[in-house]
Amino acid sequence: MPKKEQLPDYHAKRDFNRTPEPPGGRRAAGNEPLFVIQKHAARTLHYDFRLEIEGVLKSWAVPKGPSTNPRNKRLAVPTEDHPLDYADFEGVIPEGEYGAGTVLVWDTGTFRNLTEKKGRPIPLNEALAHGHLKVWLAGKKLKGGYALTRFQKEPDENWLLVKLDDEWATTDRDPLKDEPRSVLTGRTLEEMAPKTQ
Ligand code: MN
Repeated sequence: MPKKEQLPDYHAKRDFNRTPEPPGGRRAAGNEPLFVIQKHAARTLHYDFRLEIEGVLKSWAVPKGPSTNPRNKRLAVPTEDHPLDYADFEGVIPEGEYGAGTVLVWDTGTFRNLTEKKGRPIPLNEALAHGHLKVWLAGKKLKGGYALTRFQKEPDENWLLVKLDDEWATTDRDPLKDEPRSVLTGRTLEEMAPKTQ
């Protein structure tokens, strides 16, 4: 179970007496790693893209959200590791707390690591360190391959999230606009917190 020592940044930013977010714990063990994309109406709206890697959720904030069109390169800014049970978190983080605003689970499912180098599979932790990983998402809204690529290391890391050109690539869908509801509860951000929207 990820403890405070394993998620120091996550814990340092939050007062668990005030935020409804989980202090961190395990979830029911699955065979395949999970991914989650949370829609987060903080100071600015963004989508938090998280992949289970080595017992935590590695996380990127994607201001424009993921796309199903391989031509769209979406900026993805790394954020602190989150505990695995954050994958089920939906709620309203109160005013004055870190990330204040409404969070819903926009998509979730499992994923497979597709990362290779010279035809050989690369483990996720190595792929992450190298700044390039490819994953196959089996979500409710998003399916197929996505690449995450670091294009800047200093002074801050910046990555790009891009849909791979496979059978799930399409320009016919705009799930951000047309499928805004939580995949867990069917709610929209507006239904969860009318006053903060
Ligand atoms: Mn966020």
